[in-house]
Amino acid sequence: MMKLRPWYMPVAIATGFCAPALLIALVSYGIAQQAFLHRIDEFSGRVLLRAEMVAGEAQNALAEANATSGPYCGEAHLHALREIERKYRYVREVAYLQGSTLACTSHVADVGKGLVNAADVAAGLDSRFVALRDRQHLVIVDPRFYVDIVPLDNTIQLGVVDTANGQAIARWPHADPEILKQALAGKLDKQAMEGRIFRVVRSKQMAMAVVIYEPEMPFQQAWQKLLYICMPFALAMSLLASWLVLRWARKWQGPRATLLEALRRKQFFVQYQPIIELDTGRCSGAEALVRWRTAENVTVSPATFIPMAESLGLLPQITDVVLAQIARDQGAFLVANPSLHISVNFAASDLQQSDVVGKLTGMVAQMGIRPQQIWVEITESACVNDPVSLDTLNRLHHAGFPIYIDDFGTGYSSLAYLSELPLAGLKVDKMFVDAIGKATATADITEHVIAMAQDLNLNIVAEGIETAEQHAYLKARAVQYGQGWLFARALDAKAFQNFQPATAA
Ligand code: C2E
Ligand code: MG
Ligand code: MG
Repeated sequence: MMKLRPWYMPVAIATGFCAPALLIALVSYGIAQQAFLHRIDEFSGRVLLRAEMVAGEAQNALAEANATSGPYCGEAHLHALREIERKYRYVREVAYLQGSTLACTSHVADVGKGLVNAADVAAGLDSRFVALRDRQHLVIVDPRFYVDIVPLDNTIQLGVVDTANGQAIARWPHADPEILKQALAGKLDKQAMEGRIFRVVRSKQMAMAVVIYEPEMPFQQAWQKLLYICMPFALAMSLLASWLVLRWARKWQGPRATLLEALRRKQFFVQYQPIIELDTGRCSGAEALVRWRTAENVTVSPATFIPMAESLGLLPQITDVVLAQIARDQGAFLVANPSLHISVNFAASDLQQSDVVGKLTGMVAQMGIRPQQIWVEITESACVNDPVSLDTLNRLHHAGFPIYIDDFGTGYSSLAYLSELPLAGLKVDKMFVDAIGKATATADITEHVIAMAQDLNLNIVAEGIETAEQHAYLKARAVQYGQGWLFARALDAKAFQNFQPATAA
């Protein structure tokens, strides 16, 4: 079987192989990304919870400090401040202010000698600490408490940012305060964003947000890991898909698809083999013989593809092509030469087509010729015991188309049976013509067949005449028509129209 286009197969197989692997790569990418983002989101939530807890404690401590009463910086007041500091784990020192001046703290009555330098913190000079002030009290918190959380991995960075001014309240040592600020404002430059994933989670109760950023690297590593795990599965899927594609491609490239492709590409064409009136030596017409020229420029014999087309149910489509080409090639020629005819070959499937008679009558009407100018050749087996075919034959006969039995003598039907068919004549198979002049049993049958056909008043066309001896023999027995290489091979349309029989009697 001829291939359609040789590049289809490798492309189809490559697609079959790559598609599942690609799909699995994409799906695993999606899964890895989802899992990665989910982990970061969950982590951000935990960080925010922690920061809110620390800030919440500081606010509570501040409220309690403000609830204390004077005399301020007295023994009782200082005791109360110390108690507050002890009570709240994250509070490092509680201080009292008089106006904007620091008066005393939970550690010492004398300011400036506290655990932290409360004066510096209050003035914003010591960035290592966070000071929360409300009325005359100040609470100092170690900001590390805000972000004291076990890291997800060693590449993640985070900070807790004041949403009022974008300043980092607390951050991990390697977190860039500028990036934290930009991320909160949603104004990251390209360089900062490059290859990083950002998350900003704002607190609902406080003016702060957690900003997290992380290079995509751990995600890519997770994806690769997933890919390794999926690889055997992907490979199995790819092999399965390739096998399926291969099967599909073979089927697709099977004879049916090949013939349909040939029809689509108009690769069928018709040649005409002259039929000679033996008595006068004149040309009586021609038999239309279909050929298939493939894309590789090989001409395929109808003996190869007609039986295949018939078994695949595609023959009627080929017949349509043949009829259309005859109309195109020979329409004007047959009008100008009303004594000439074209013989067409019909197979059983053509006869079973309900509209075949209409098609032929339409065709002759369109060409402007008589139905007698289109002879229909059918093989014996095409009409044996098939009521639909018989009905078609009768209708063709009534429409005026001469019907000939092709390859006569190679089938099983008796002459008696044939006498019931509406026949114009028989085409005696080449086998009997070949036997002429040879002392064989077939030679006797040839004689007999000719005599019986004449008894039944049927015309005879002798096929495959190759020698002058065969010609003389048939002519002597009043066989009406002959066809064969002695006169001409199958010719192109123009060559047939210019054909002049050389062996005129
Ligand atoms: P067929 O209808 O019996 O056609 C005669 C075959 O004998 C043709 O072969 C022709 O080229 C060949 N032939 C003619 N004279 C000679 C000769 O002197 N010597 C030799 N050795 N051969 C000769 P082809 O063209 O290969 O066709 C083969 C068969 O294919 C045809 O046999 C016919 O049954 C079928 N066929 C051809 N065209 C069509 C078509 O359009 N429709 C259908 N259904 N069948 C077709
Ligand atoms: Mg024929
Ligand atoms: Mg024949």
